[in-house]
Amino acid sequence: MCRHLAYLGPPVTLGSLLHDPPYGLLRQSWAPRDMRGGGTINADGFGVGWYPDGTDPVRYRRAQPMWSDTTLPELAAVTSAGAVLAAVRSATVGMPLHETAAAPFAEGRWLFSHNGVVRGWPDSLVPLAAGLPVRDLLTLEVPTDSAVLWALVRHRLRAGETLGEAVAGTVARVTAAAPGSRLNLLLTDGSTVAASVAGHALSVRQRPGSVVLASEPFDDDPDWRAVPEGRLVLATAAGLDVRELTTV
Ligand code: GLN
Repeated sequence: MCRHLAYLGPPVTLGSLLHDPPYGLLRQSWAPRDMRGGGTINADGFGVGWYPDGTDPVRYRRAQPMWSDTTLPELAAVTSAGAVLAAVRSATVGMPLHETAAAPFAEGRWLFSHNGVVRGWPDSLVPLAAGLPVRDLLTLEVPTDSAVLWALVRHRLRAGETLGEAVAGTVARVTAAAPGSRLNLLLTDGSTVAASVAGHALSVRQRPGSVVLASEPFDDDPDWRAVPEGRLVLATAAGLDVRELTTV
């Protein structure tokens, strides 16, 4: 069920995160090592967002499997950034196959991804969506659970919440409205990453000056640490904070 990753640190090529590692997102698109919650491959699209120096992030998204994109490897080999968020998608049954459904979702400085599913979609989300500005609903990029989650997170960010508050608050509200949902969210502004571990796996590789958060380790480096269920991870290039999701 979808795999995602975020990187913060000195500029690296997109290829060093996606293509070069033995179990990078490219490999995970056809042979993920952990697919709890159903699905066998992540072939329903992919996306990568990165922060060029001094500007808001840009994205490259496609509705096709990552392995079938012959342009991306060349682009990724020469594009470097110090902040990256990327994902490969395994669409939940019944959800549209379109590049707008592939993470990352974006606005301004923010990039967002969701690994999981909202139970009882779409009815279970109606009470929460009713609290959003009508304009946000009319301009939803695509009718998927992930796009509505992004609208909920973004509404909190616009109201001034921190990344961690927006992620934890959204997970709490959606879990209450749709019990049993899987809600691994990944959110960054290019300086901080907030990630929830709620139903799917997440691992962290921290080194001096850099951090990678990923649904599964992309190599066999012993520095990878699995984050336990029910946690919120707040990461910058300089440090890591892991706390109970419910205490934020
Ligand atoms: N439910 C979301 C979608 O269909 C995310 C799917 C996933 O995590 N596999 O896009």
